[in-house]
Amino acid sequence: DLDIRDLVVRFTGLERPALDIPELVLPAGAHVALTGPSGSGKTTFINIVTGLERPPAGRVAWGGTDIGRLGEGARDRWRATHVGLVMQEFHLFPGLSALENVLLPQRLAQFRLPPRLRAEAGRLLERVGIERPGQKIETLSRGQMQRVAVARALVARPGIIVADEPTASLDAEAGAAVAELLSALAGEVGATLLVATHDACLIAGMERVLHLEAGRLVPAASLPAASAPVSAAPAPAV
Ligand code: ATP
Repeated sequence: DLDIRDLVVRFTGLERPALDIPELVLPAGAHVALTGPSGSGKTTFINIVTGLERPPAGRVAWGGTDIGRLGEGARDRWRATHVGLVMQEFHLFPGLSALENVLLPQRLAQFRLPPRLRAEAGRLLERVGIERPGQKIETLSRGQMQRVAVARALVARPGIIVADEPTASLDAEAGAAVAELLSALAGEVGATLLVATHDACLIAGMERVLHLEAGRLVPAASLPAASAPVSAAPAPAV
């Protein structure tokens, strides 16, 4: 599970904390959407819970490992083995095939690539609907690219899958396919899934929504009605 206590993140130039979370517990295997307006702290939250940045104050622990207390090298190794990432703009490498893209982070992290990883990469590519694993990445559609990125995030069977606006660069149909695959595959391996998104379809498939406002988690009950159209108030006569 994820256990956060007294997490406060400040940046110079910002008067309020960028993130202020007194307590948050997410059970292992939960599927959670992270929402909030621009500047509310979503990226900061993701960077901290994935170990990219060290929590400056408080405790951030996954399954009992306080990642803030790991040294930099240990935190990098923890990230490589425990976290699978899916980014808005895919972050795939042109010139390499779909299969090579899925395996690249593992090649970089491990001295010798275990044969089972190659087999798992092939299986996952088939599962996400990529028919030719040898196809160069730049010849794929954007939806296919993101599905390759989903396979890459899962290949080492991380316990945590984090996706940052994974459908924002895709059309509705391709986005729906990616949303479905993320939920299904995270479910199959029992991974915790954390998705920062504005995509209503993606949010609807999650068990829980964490909503950030100015660095604080706001209980869903006190959210303004999401369905209220902003333009409902009549425009003032000029
Ligand atoms: P968006 O949806 O636009 O990506 P966000 O919810 O991800 O926004 P963050 O990027 O986490 O928001 O930023 C939270 C706040 O912290 C913002 O006010 C931002 O300007 C500030 N901030 C983020 N990173 C830094 C930094 N390195 N230095 C100074 N301020 C920062």
